[in-house]
Amino acid sequence: MSKLDENRTKAAAYLSRFGETGVLNHINGASVPAASGHTFETISPVDLKPLAVVARSGREDVNAAVAAAKEAFPAWRDMGGVERRRILHKVADAIEARAEEIAFVESMDTGQAVRFMSKAALRGAENFRFFADKAAEACDGKALRSETQLNVTSRRPIGPIGVITPWNTPFMLSTWKIAPALAAGCTVVHKPAEFSPMSAKLLVEIAESAGLPKGVLNLVQGFGEDAGRALTEHRDIKAIAFVGEGRTGTMIMAQGAPTLKRVHFELGGKNPVIVFDDADLDRAVDAVIFMIYSLNGERCTSSSRLLVQDTIYEAFTKRVADAAERIKVGHPLDPETVVGPLIHPVHEQKVLSYIEKAKEDGATIAAGGVKVGVEGCYVRPTLFTNATNKMRVAQEEIFGPVLTAIPFANEVEAIEIANDVEYGLTAYLWTNDLRRALTMTERLEAGMMWINSENVRHLPAPFGGVKNSGIGRDGGDWSFEFYMETVNVALPLAEHSIVKLAQ
Ligand code: NAD
Repeated sequence: MSKLDENRTKAAAYLSRFGETGVLNHINGASVPAASGHTFETISPVDLKPLAVVARSGREDVNAAVAAAKEAFPAWRDMGGVERRRILHKVADAIEARAEEIAFVESMDTGQAVRFMSKAALRGAENFRFFADKAAEACDGKALRSETQLNVTSRRPIGPIGVITPWNTPFMLSTWKIAPALAAGCTVVHKPAEFSPMSAKLLVEIAESAGLPKGVLNLVQGFGEDAGRALTEHRDIKAIAFVGEGRTGTMIMAQGAPTLKRVHFELGGKNPVIVFDDADLDRAVDAVIFMIYSLNGERCTSSSRLLVQDTIYEAFTKRVADAAERIKVGHPLDPETVVGPLIHPVHEQKVLSYIEKAKEDGATIAAGGVKVGVEGCYVRPTLFTNATNKMRVAQEEIFGPVLTAIPFANEVEAIEIANDVEYGLTAYLWTNDLRRALTMTERLEAGMMWINSENVRHLPAPFGGVKNSGIGRDGGDWSFEFYMETVNVALPLAEHSIVKLAQ
């Protein structure tokens, strides 16, 4: 039996448990269908066949989930960080124990290659461990002295949180939001993306099996315009942590305005990787390839614009094109596969439409540019050359394995091109000139920059974008700033004079 067949058999066994009931909501410790009884189908992008039916929730389901989160909040808040740390480490253990199941389910639901999804499942556990270790100190504050008073700050969890996540690496991404919220002492209602509903159900079940009290994490499945909207409008939800597209963020901000919702947005990107001719070009080629073709290019931090110094443009883009042609596209459960099928036919059409737009705008297709096979959403890793930054393929987020290469002459032009987009999530810079690296990072409009490196995450470091790429930062203590409120108590150090108004 080939490794692929072996993995298929295992995946079928893992998926079969959703067969009878479908993918249900999870409210106050119980698996429940939508109150209306409505469902929708989730299909696998591997072959477009249905994987399971999913609860299609509405306002009534959201109300029940928020009520559970509200009821569970005081006990979870008052439990104390040390005990929360213990429980969240158990959750991490339980995720590790079921990492293969999570990875296989995720691969079949999203099309992401299992080589990346197995790491993503383990990263989910790491997110829980990282924030578990910080749970006990999350409420700590500062002591600020004046001449007459000692001001002591501390932080309190804000209350029940709504977490709304997209379909790319959904398990890992949701733990990045849910773990710090729980560590802070908040309770959560999670609304995962309708294209990838399955691993969210695994997460809540795993968490409760590890000892997370019922009602602390609740799950409502369904569409953005009904379940998502109801969550953002609910009075008892104190904040919304959202990852997704900018235009959805705009809607969420408006929907949350009447209840003065605090929002944290992680949105899109059109991130540049800038390669100068003095760089280590062998490493740069590998990093460029990794940052656009891993995870199917369905990654907010992908470097989708390749800016290459004109002295090496032809040679460098040829190397990238050759490497792109050698990348294995295939079944996501095949351990050799790098690029699996894109999430859904609707998204595949969007990605393919940019291949047409590139041709119309005058770019050259140097690699890929074609759909693979007849069933499933497979698109070959694609490289556009002879592109300018004004072209649609250089300005708009495509969110697929599609790279646009643009030449530049010098530092000034590189910065001008890099910044000439509405987004500002990440930037990657390849040069061995330290002065150049430092001056460039001063001017690049991006929330996160890497020099001579692909995206290597360090969980205590801030994660987030500038411009239309988001509002707020995750990571380290920044996550707690969002999920908690700072309060201040002023204590007397000396007696000060109080102005007497009444004679
Ligand atoms: P999307 O905005 O379409 O959907 C995201 C979530 O929002 C889904 O759960 C959806 O159901 C929900 N939603 C939709 N309309 C809503 C509404 N009116 N009210 C409340 N919720 C609503 O995004 P997507 O297509 O699922 O994901 C891809 C996008 O996510 C890309 O733009 C990508 O760059 C971005 N992303 C950003 C980061 C980051 O860290 N910056 C990370 C991953 C993905």
